[in-house]
Amino acid sequence: MTQESAIVFTIFYALLCFCIVYPSTEFVSAGLTIDRLFSSTLGSERMSFVDYHIRRTSLNLMVHSMLPIMYIRVYFMQFNNDENAADLAQDVYSAVSIAWKFLVITAVLLPGLVAVAIYHWSRNNWANHPIAKRLGKFTDGNRMRDWRMVAANINDEYRRDHNVVIKMNPVSRIVVTESWVIKTTSYWLNVAHQDDTALIAYKSDTHDVSQDAFETVQYVNIAVKSTRPGIREFSIRVNALDFKDLQDRINRPITILSSVKFHRSVVERFVDVFKDQVAQNPTYRLGSNITIDDLDSCFACMHTQPNIKIQKNCLDVDEVGEALPEARCCQVCNCRPMWCIDCVAKWFASRQEQSERDSWLQQKCTCPMCRARFCVLDVSYIEKR
Ligand SMILES: [Zn+2]
Ligand SMILES: [Zn+2]
Ligand SMILES: [Zn+2]
Repeated sequence: MTQESAIVFTIFYALLCFCIVYPSTEFVSAGLTIDRLFSSTLGSERMSFVDYHIRRTSLNLMVHSMLPIMYIRVYFMQFNNDENAADLAQDVYSAVSIAWKFLVITAVLLPGLVAVAIYHWSRNNWANHPIAKRLGKFTDGNRMRDWRMVAANINDEYRRDHNVVIKMNPVSRIVVTESWVIKTTSYWLNVAHQDDTALIAYKSDTHDVSQDAFETVQYVNIAVKSTRPGIREFSIRVNALDFKDLQDRINRPITILSSVKFHRSVVERFVDVFKDQVAQNPTYRLGSNITIDDLDSCFACMHTQPNIKIQKNCLDVDEVGEALPEARCCQVCNCRPMWCIDCVAKWFASRQEQSERDSWLQQKCTCPMCRARFCVLDVSYIEKR
């Protein structure tokens, strides 16, 4: 093996290690991850969440600790087959001799040490495992007398359906059950009991997804602080879109520091501008035989009462006051009130050209039912009586 091929091999091996330790989406979907390859050893996460993660983190540690020695083994196998390379190896060996020796010794010892540790942890049904020890801190002397009972409680809740599971990255997930907040990582399981935990959203960051910055994605960082002795604080990071799910599943409010500003989407901002304009339009009075409570809920969102009516108010003129041609005039809509203001505003936004965002409010749209053309001036709030 020449020096070049040694370098190529090293780079290739480093990439391989990276993919094993931090699998990309392609690896995950192809099932080429440690969790998948050893799935029969690990058992079912759904049936036994804690046991699964104790085994999974131990296995990760074992496999990852073997990567350096595998590298050295393959590297030297190549050298032994080739005399020139053996000379090269000699050079390398003497040049960086001490550091190299140290690396080799570490690489040889590492898997051994990890194996001994895992053996020690696994005795007595994993009672010595650091995760088991951590769970032991949640015993309450009552329903949960030892770590096994704490684990059983977590397993039980995880089996139920209404948990929130958020993927943070390829190696980390957040699981929120009825009473627990759990973060899984490659080697560890962070656990907090909701009853004695404060969640504080302390930082947010926004990233552009597409080049024209039209779509952005925002992440919120949340500190999970337990007041229970021995439980260390950890932090979770969620997409702002998942924040509400999380909030709904947590028994107590999440504190949001003033530094965290929820970024609002273009459509959300448009809805506000739209509402401001509608508030200035003439209102609409329902016929005497019907009240707002008689109306069915909004056709789009199904959960609020319709509060607007499309009725022609505008004068069919353009920005400079010139009469519009027939084809661009607004039309009469005879539909009964069916939509709430938010849904109409969103519908209106959805019918516009994405690239002409600045002029959306001046544009027109058609009634979702009868297709009559209308503009924002033709949307009226229904008078409350
Ligand atoms: Zn609605
Ligand atoms: Zn209509
Ligand atoms: Zn109009």
